Amino acid sequence: MFIVDNHIHLGQPGVHVSDYIYKELRKNWTERGFRYHSVEVASEKREVTALVDVMDEAGLDVCCVLAGNWNRVLPPEQRPYNVPNAFVATQVAQSGGRLIGICSVDPIVDPWDAADELERCVRDEDFRGCKLYPTYAHFDPRDKACEPVYEAASALGIPIHFHMGYTPVCGADMKLQQPWLLDEVGRRFPKLKVVVCHMGYPYAEEAMGLVSRHENFHADLSALGFHHPRKVYQLIHDFGCVNSWDRLLYGSENPFMRTFHKTVMSINEVAAEIGMPEIPQDALEHILGGNACRLYRIDRAALGR
Ligand SMILES: [Zn+2]
Repeated sequence: MFIVDNHIHLGQPGVHVSDYIYKELRKNWTERGFRYHSVEVASEKREVTALVDVMDEAGLDVCCVLAGNWNRVLPPEQRPYNVPNAFVATQVAQSGGRLIGICSVDPIVDPWDAADELERCVRDEDFRGCKLYPTYAHFDPRDKACEPVYEAASALGIPIHFHMGYTPVCGADMKLQQPWLLDEVGRRFPKLKVVVCHMGYPYAEEAMGLVSRHENFHADLSALGFHHPRKVYQLIHDFGCVNSWDRLLYGSENPFMRTFHKTVMSINEVAAEIGMPEIPQDALEHILGGNACRLYRIDRAALGR
């Protein structure tokens, strides 16, 4: 099976991500959160060659790697969280096609500069998507300042990933992480491709309903690996009751959460255990890689995998 993890954060601790933010992002998980999944890969090696080795070890074909910058709202003693697009581009360029770059921009600083930077990243550096962080960077995705970025992404045909739902980072604003905030975005920009990260957990049912309303919306499973596999099964099953599984993508949230694609690959063992219907094999193949190939234009033949 061709496996794509659509949600891996780059950034070297102490260089791009302060010790404070790194600890906040991993708060509670290191001790308690990794008990259910057997895959032992929680890569903290952020050098690209080491990362590709880890991918080979784990059985991952391609990973999307995310930029991000929320320095604007961080007090000086908590900074930085700044994983620049340029850093991600250099890592992607060295990966032989195994990494797909997802850039990030801050529409609140300057809406037009943000749109220009997005266009530059896609046209000149082959980024295949853009990540926005409303809850961390304290903005409402319905803010008018975001419109030039949405227009640019629509025209380029690239998806915008929104962090929606849970984060342990206490400085993030909970009122800016609810999936329903994206409904108006979808109605104003019907061609905009959207990925609702983390299936909006703990507002996962709200996210399922949101995705079902907008034909270009998707959800990903990133960070849900802290749950028992029965819960992972239930979320995948329930998503399929209101949406096509063609709009669900596997992602991990590595290095802040453990990689759990093997749990998803064997999720029908859970179905058998609890007497629930199997997730069809073709749907699992789409969730674990096929949908990502379509959304991020991944050329399997060129990769030879
Ligand atoms: Zn993330």
